[in-house]
Amino acid sequence: MGDVVVLCDYCGKIAVHTCKLCGKRVCAAHYDDSNGSCTACSSGRQAKTNPKSNGRS
Ligand SMILES: [Zn+2]
Ligand SMILES: [Zn+2]
Repeated sequence: MGDVVVLCDYCGKIAVHTCKLCGKRVCAAHYDDSNGSCTACSSGRQAKTNPKSNGRS
């Protein structure tokens, strides 16, 4: 005891990021840097296509 090592909530590797949406601690493989969230939250959000990405005005 004494060592505080946070492990990825998905795969158990060393967590280096925290999801800003669900607060889970995740490793690089389970973190979406463009969204600042874990891959689970990221994929959930990406289910909706973003109409703002359309260049028409
Ligand atoms: Zn992981
Ligand atoms: Zn998340």
